Amino acid sequence: MTVTYEEALQKYEPVFGLETHVELGTRTKMFCGCPTAFGAEPNTQVCPVCLGLPGSLPVVNQRAIEFAIRIGLALNCSIASWCRFARKNYFYPDMPKNFQISQYDEPLCTDGYLDVLTGGETVRVGIERVHLEEDTGKSLHVGGATGRIQGAEYSLVDYNRSGIPLVEIVTKPVPGTGYLAPEVARAYVTELRDVLRTLGVSDVRMEEGSMRCDVNTSIAARGSGAWGTRTETKNVNSLRSVERAVRSEISRQAGVLDAGERVVQETRHFHEDTGVTTSGRSKEEAQDYRYFPEPDLVPVAPADEWVSSIRASLPELPSARRARLISAWSLSELEFESLRNAGALDVVEATVAVGASPADARKWWLGELARKANDDGIEVSALPITPSDVARIAALVKAGTLNDRLAREVIDGVLWGEGTPDEVVEKRGLAVVSDDSALIAAVDEAIAAHPDVAEKVRGGKVAAAGALVGAVMKATRGQADAPRVRELILERLS
Ligand SMILES: [Zn+2]
Repeated sequence: MTVTYEEALQKYEPVFGLETHVELGTRTKMFCGCPTAFGAEPNTQVCPVCLGLPGSLPVVNQRAIEFAIRIGLALNCSIASWCRFARKNYFYPDMPKNFQISQYDEPLCTDGYLDVLTGGETVRVGIERVHLEEDTGKSLHVGGATGRIQGAEYSLVDYNRSGIPLVEIVTKPVPGTGYLAPEVARAYVTELRDVLRTLGVSDVRMEEGSMRCDVNTSIAARGSGAWGTRTETKNVNSLRSVERAVRSEISRQAGVLDAGERVVQETRHFHEDTGVTTSGRSKEEAQDYRYFPEPDLVPVAPADEWVSSIRASLPELPSARRARLISAWSLSELEFESLRNAGALDVVEATVAVGASPADARKWWLGELARKANDDGIEVSALPITPSDVARIAALVKAGTLNDRLAREVIDGVLWGEGTPDEVVEKRGLAVVSDDSALIAAVDEAIAAHPDVAEKVRGGKVAAAGALVGAVMKATRGQADAPRVRELILERLS
């Protein structure tokens, strides 16, 4: 039974939560000295520890602990003064030890929050915990049609990823966002990614898997006060997919409940191509991981002074930057969001820093340049034009040397590698012509070519002069100083 998203929201209230895994950008792995670089030949970045060979002993990477504390502090969490690692026991070929070293009932960071902005509204998302663990290896199933283990002829395992430090950031359930639940979920992941990037603890590349989300969704009848059974959609690997996964689960669960059936507690897989989730492993019977404290590692007890010094070294976080720029540039929250969503915050800030007005910087980066970036399918910050170039173009417009149309041509020239804005103006001969002697000839020609219009203007219909201005602009390929042309026309016809 199919229920549209709108129908589902009329009857049901959604609750979502997110578990986000983030690979930390440490130089070496969590419990050994192997390098963590992405893309190396399979099984070249391994040692007895991360291969789980008998007799090898793990040693905690201090830098990873520091990174996890940075994350915890940025998410307003309490930092445990004492905590332990635990063994999570399960068998899978990408887990060479048959257990994963993780944290269980004693996580490093607990009980924080992250404020996220969406649609001009701020929603506070509670953070349950931030804990450290090690990543698993990566398996490749060969010979089957689907790339899954079912039907494969054989499987290969790459242990380069095994033992890379991973933090898991778990939100509290987020109720009360109603219709906006999918957008708030996406906004949370966006904000979290910005925070992690600002902290410098991870490259947060969702497409390379260094940031991966599991999305929990449930719905319950509106006004019932109850919470429904939740499903967990695994490995949702883009911001857009987070939004789509929540949306499609809400519709699917509404269909199940409307048919008088019950939602099964299970993991589900999200399909990028169709935008729907399909059933995975049932979680009706809780899997027993037989957690126990990791006997090969000493507890982690970060000293207060160390935590304080990490806190003092935190950079300006996205929420603080948001407040600062909204105030300094007199923006609404929606205007700020459009800048952020266009990936233009850094370049606009840099353009303002070299002298452009915030309004001019926004106008060029969000207008012409965003269009060019979109045409090329790249980020606006990846265009071959610098904030200084854009500031210079804005200054030339302000000085009257360029009008907007000419400025767009200068931008083209810079993007084509023809040099700096001034060089492009020079080479292409693009400066506005405001010299009267050059303009008067064009004005007289236009008047001669449109005697009827000229007559109207002479008769007092000043608005008709626009047609003559247009003719002059066309004749001068847009390079004439339009306000001056208008003055000259009115002078000569008065
Ligand atoms: Zn190793």
